[in-house]
Amino acid sequence: MTAAIKQAAQRTPLVLALDFDMTLTISDTISNVAETARRKNPEYRDFQWFVNEYIKDHRTFYTQWEPQIAEHRTKGTVDRSFMDKYLEALRPVETASLDRINRHGILANVTRAEFAAAGRDVQFRPGATTFINHFIHCSYNCSICVVSVNWSKDFIHGALSANGVDTEKGRISIYANDMEFGSTGLSTGRLAPKLVVAKDKGEVVEGFKREVTEEHGCNPLVVYAGDSPTDLPALLDADVGLLIGDNSSPIDWCGWLGVEFGVQRTGTKENSSVLYKLASWDKAIATVEGHLK
Ligand SMILES: [Mg+2]
Repeated sequence: MTAAIKQAAQRTPLVLALDFDMTLTISDTISNVAETARRKNPEYRDFQWFVNEYIKDHRTFYTQWEPQIAEHRTKGTVDRSFMDKYLEALRPVETASLDRINRHGILANVTRAEFAAAGRDVQFRPGATTFINHFIHCSYNCSICVVSVNWSKDFIHGALSANGVDTEKGRISIYANDMEFGSTGLSTGRLAPKLVVAKDKGEVVEGFKREVTEEHGCNPLVVYAGDSPTDLPALLDADVGLLIGDNSSPIDWCGWLGVEFGVQRTGTKENSSVLYKLASWDKAIATVEGHLK
């Protein structure tokens, strides 16, 4: 065994779980997926209609929840279980949106290769690729997964490759919703909703962690990077959470929950939970390496 392999074998395994939209990418890319299909189906209803319906449902949802949030904030009783309840209550809003997409079949008639090719137009945040490739090529026992509510695994894979992520060397598991494809190789227009709300993302990360634990025979250090409230439970449950960007909503929730950025919250030295707020990916490598033995 070489010294490098010995060193790697002794190191704590590392799990990098990464949200996709607005965490790795500079903008939300669901519309890119929809537009790819729209070019094949110009006669179908415009995607903006689906966006507008979703926004309407979301406004209604928020109007219903706003008084409860205000009350809990006033009393200082915003806690994890209240936040989890709020995030889970979004499920019907998200499911209704996916039902509309399915009913109208607007994602039909596209091949996997075409979705992957569309991923080439996606632009990553500066430093995101450097971060992923660093851990692919370093001597840590690193397992990487992308956990996304996006609609196409092929699209995500295409975007990772096009942005220079070494998907050949690094095994990256992609967990996302995905299209159904017929025997002709074309999408049927049906999308099976698997990852819809925060709880679904958290469960994926837990499952991935269990697999890595079994593979290595010890608990990995779990790093989760995300940008939105949908990522918050996973960010808080990770050993190291990286809240990327400047989305005010997760920052507000952290304030209401009393979570201080960069401060160890629970556990012992061996088992700490820390959430960092990073405006960009620049300091992410050093931040994670500070937690690796
Ligand atoms: Mg996101």
